[in-house]
Amino acid sequence: TKACLSAIDKADALNAFVHKTPEIALERAAAADARLQQGDAPAMCGLPVGIKDLFCTKGVASQAASKILEGFVPEYESTVSQQLADNGAVMLGKLNMDEFAMGSSNETSTYGNAVSPWRRGNDDAPLTPGGSSGGSAAAVAADLCLAATGTDTGGSIRQPAAFTGTVGIKPTYGRCSRWGVVAFASSLDQAGPMTKSVRDAAIMLEAMSGHDPKDSTSADLAVPNFEAMLTGDIRGKKIGIPKEYHMEGMPAEIEKLWAEGTAMLKAAGAEIVDISLPHTKYALPAYYVIAPAEASSNLARYDGVRYGNRATLEAGDGITEMYEKTRAQGFGDEVQRRVMVGTYVLSAGFYDAYYNRARRVRSLIKQDFENVFAAGVDAILTPATPSAAFGLGEMSDADPVAMYLLDVFTVTVNLAGLPGIALPAGLDSQGLPLGLQLIGRPWEEGDLLNTAYALE
Ligand code: GLN
Repeated sequence: TKACLSAIDKADALNAFVHKTPEIALERAAAADARLQQGDAPAMCGLPVGIKDLFCTKGVASQAASKILEGFVPEYESTVSQQLADNGAVMLGKLNMDEFAMGSSNETSTYGNAVSPWRRGNDDAPLTPGGSSGGSAAAVAADLCLAATGTDTGGSIRQPAAFTGTVGIKPTYGRCSRWGVVAFASSLDQAGPMTKSVRDAAIMLEAMSGHDPKDSTSADLAVPNFEAMLTGDIRGKKIGIPKEYHMEGMPAEIEKLWAEGTAMLKAAGAEIVDISLPHTKYALPAYYVIAPAEASSNLARYDGVRYGNRATLEAGDGITEMYEKTRAQGFGDEVQRRVMVGTYVLSAGFYDAYYNRARRVRSLIKQDFENVFAAGVDAILTPATPSAAFGLGEMSDADPVAMYLLDVFTVTVNLAGLPGIALPAGLDSQGLPLGLQLIGRPWEEGDLLNTAYALE
């Protein structure tokens, strides 16, 4: 813990930690030492971790990287961060992210962007660690913590993991409680671990998982010992390679690493099959209707009364001006864009044309995966992202849709509620990490982790 705290203090340039909690960390580390001495040592006992700012942490500022939550210090702890603390994990502080987890580069944060510890060749231009869990990825990649929590609504664990050469798993929807995690799109949001290895991901996921009566979408299922399932034996497993993920214009290097990953799984005894997920091309438009729709509803609660910031009002301002000014000043551009898109697609007259149609597309995407799994496929191998990490400012200065398009390989998994893991695949010609993604059957994270372990 002390080594991490001193590394964090030297790494301000990465802007990964937005609230440091050294007192809490040292106190919990001492408590963990005592537990270890008494022989009562759960798997995460004494392990220093970072917590994404989206998780409410009791007595510690939790702002979802938004100006509108300035000054908000929760009276309660999210179930996931509580479970980690109960398991002995030591919280070092809160990690940077895109505002309300909306983004792919960490550039929408009210704290300014986190920076990747990686550089492109000899070029010193700063790169994005990805988003929205960019602070988590940067912190793990730069050894500021052993692991971190992330959340993933459309790829926010897997894309930053791919960009930073770390491991990130989005579990099956319902595996981890969403209670106390600031809501973005409730039918898609899941928490998950971001770690340096598949084994660490297995250990941490187990500690984060489990039924929570406070989240009605949390599944009442036993949590397996994921670490014990890491045998590396994948003989006879059927791995599907979806033809729709061979995207036009994708760098040859990504195709090459994907082919190498396929060959590695085959060499380990897996059977490789070509599959089709025909509705893949509709996933991005469906996601960028459903996620903003749910976000616009979830974010209605930030009204200047219940949480955080209220705009300064002028004489004569009424309640409408109070809402308008608070939300105009408190939400950043991307969040406002999502709220506008969301309210538009939910409005009378457009509801059927956009929201209902997107929901129907979502069912078809889910059905695509169900068909493939019913045909005996155990896991699906794809690239995690269609590019390596980009430079800060490179995408955010352009059309926002260009950034949305980069989520093409990850959003399908959230729409279908499936578990997906991103793991390092190798480096591109400029020395930047690229990631592969494995998608598994619902509730079979153990099997998925084991396939990733064989590929690691
Ligand atoms: N990049 C996607 C978005 O901006 C996904 C974000 C996420 O998973 N939280 O919505």
